[in-house]
Amino acid sequence: MNIPMIKLPSYELILPSTQETIRYRPYTVREEKILVLAMQSNNDDEIKRAMGDIVKSCTFDKVDINENPMFDVQYVFLKLRCKSVGEVSEVILTCASCEDTHRHFINLDTINVVFKADTKNILDFGDFKIEMKYPNLSDLSLIKSDNDVDSIFKMIVSCVKKIYTDEEMIENTKETQQSIQEILEMMVPEQFMQVQNFFNNVPALVHTINFTCEKCSTDNHIDVTGIYNFFL
Ligand SMILES: [Zn+2]
Repeated sequence: MNIPMIKLPSYELILPSTQETIRYRPYTVREEKILVLAMQSNNDDEIKRAMGDIVKSCTFDKVDINENPMFDVQYVFLKLRCKSVGEVSEVILTCASCEDTHRHFINLDTINVVFKADTKNILDFGDFKIEMKYPNLSDLSLIKSDNDVDSIFKMIVSCVKKIYTDEEMIENTKETQQSIQEILEMMVPEQFMQVQNFFNNVPALVHTINFTCEKCSTDNHIDVTGIYNFFL
């Protein structure tokens, strides 16, 4: 017996980083199974590979987790989840005041990437300028832990696109990465703050939930960020 082919529907979304309209399709049961197994494995490489494969095939090769910024990938994932599983996700919230728990339903389709007004990709230090790029998943996976300064520095170096003056320019490649790192190390801490600030202002998926606690009447405001929080 021949298995009848199911034609998957396709939709359009606007990619946050470039504002380009791209096509996407929902993921299949088989793809979801691979993702769930990867998540259960708790192995970061496996999760990354499963996410990468799904994002790539569902956007018809338009989005690559090793090239697109993380917030693009998260946004695409959210859209995929909406069309594949459903737009409503249930979360359990805890009141900040009395710790009573509340059930809340989020409409995932209303969540957007928030760009902060003062986000600039080119940092101006007078004598020289640094052009930065938003971190992708590969950059972020350089960080071993939140207090491993060395690995955080490596991630920062990998997000430098180029450093230039009126006369000279160094583009970040495998060959120049060491020099880029040395230039960053030669900066004074006050200048380096500007670089760190760039990372504090990276666009992100943000959704604020406001609810009034039924038990103690406290008004709660909870920011839900990141992909895992929306997924679970
Ligand atoms: Zn309460």
